Amino acid sequence: MRKKVLIIGSGLGSLATALRLSKLGFDIDIVEKFHQAGGRLNLLEKDGFSFDMGPSFFSMSYEFKELFDSCNIPMPFEIEELNPVYSVNFPNRKKPFLIYKDIDKLAAEFEGIETNFAEKLNKYIGSAKKMFHDTEDIVIRRNFKNRLDYLLQLTKVPLSHSPKMFRSMWTELERTFDSQEAKVIFSCAFFWVILRSKRLQFTACSITQSSNTTAIGM
Ligand SMILES: Cc1cc2nc3c(=O)[nH]c(=O)nc-3n(C[C@H](O)[C@H](O)[C@H](O)COP(=O)(O)OP(=O)(O)OC[C@H]3O[C@@H](n4cnc5c(N)ncnc54)[C@H](O)[C@@H]3O)c2cc1C
Repeated sequence: MRKKVLIIGSGLGSLATALRLSKLGFDIDIVEKFHQAGGRLNLLEKDGFSFDMGPSFFSMSYEFKELFDSCNIPMPFEIEELNPVYSVNFPNRKKPFLIYKDIDKLAAEFEGIETNFAEKLNKYIGSAKKMFHDTEDIVIRRNFKNRLDYLLQLTKVPLSHSPKMFRSMWTELERTFDSQEAKVIFSCAFFWVILRSKRLQFTACSITQSSNTTAIGM
């Protein structure tokens, strides 16, 4: 007899788990307290408009490929790369900043606003990228049984990253950029992943709020 599994919640995590377990031969039941499935990835529809309640673009789209490949299911949707990825509007500025993956094109957006932009950004992203790669397997993708387990694992992170581990992202940005615009835009966590890997693709738009300034991406 097939074993039964009850999954509580129907967010992305639950749905992915359901697919994987079902592939392994389990019978799955899912219970959800909200009136529709999806969890934080959900849609609000009103007066003919629809609003993303959570994610607007997929930053690590290769994770979907891994999920569907491992379940032997063809990708049920197409992923379209966005270029520019999004735009950021500031209340006191008529023209939005267009956020391109290409650093030279992006640097043109910051002309007259941030000196030596490309050099500063390359340094910032280079160091973030190294930290991500050095911690991806040993920290980011791991589960921890308790705080001690987490702290012990942190001791395996190369010492060169330790100053960063005790600084906030905003402090890091203040050490890198002079303009408020650059600091606010790059405080959006997505920026790290946008430039992290060529594998990444994006599918829609984003709204971010950071520091004292509201930045709205379209
Ligand atoms: C504003 C916002 C923007 C985001 N933007 C992005 C983005 O652009 N790109 C991206 O990749 N990620 C984005 N994320 C992150 C992404 O939405 C989440 O990481 C992901 O949806 C979480 O999925 P989950 O399954 O872990 O949890 P959830 O989506 O929270 O699912 C949990 C589910 O469990 C249900 N539940 C909880 N308790 C019970 C119970 N007792 N009984 C029954 N059901 C229960 C909840 O109703 C919910 O449906 C964003 C998140 C937010 C909030």
